[in-house]
Parts: sequence; structure tokens; C-alpha cells
Amino acid sequence: MYGKNFVTVDSRNTTRTCHACGHIMSGKEKLTLKDREWICPKCVIHHIRDVNAAKNILARVKSKLVSMH
Ligand SMILES: [Zn+2]
Repeated sequence: MYGKNFVTVDSRNTTRTCHACGHIMSGKEKLTLKDREWICPKCVIHHIRDVNAAKNILARVKSKLVSMH
């Protein structure tokens, strides 16, 4: 699909990082496997965990592709 432009991205923290403001849930805010949905305390956006993670990964792929040029 991406041909020679295959890139690998670091997927660490993609689940617990708010894709809207970049806030990372840690300490008491840290998400558990039970938290399928959560609300960012900083920008108060409602997240569905897997959707938020996917958006973070996509954003990392895009920024990586840009930095390759
Ligand atoms: Zn946020």
C-alpha cells in the first residue's frame, strides 16, 4: 500500500496520549485495560481508546514521512 515508503513508528504511549492536546495520562490518571473510553482532563475531549490510539499512530506516521523529505 505504501510501497517503498514503509515506515515504522514508536507506538509507545499512543493509548494514553490525548491526540488533541498531547496530554499524557500518568500517575493517578493512568488508564487501565478496563478504560475503553476516557476524558482528557486538559482539553476535556471524550476519547474512545482505540480510536485515539489510531489517531496518534497516524499522526506519528505522517510526521515521520514529512521528516524524510
Ligand atoms: Zn487533551
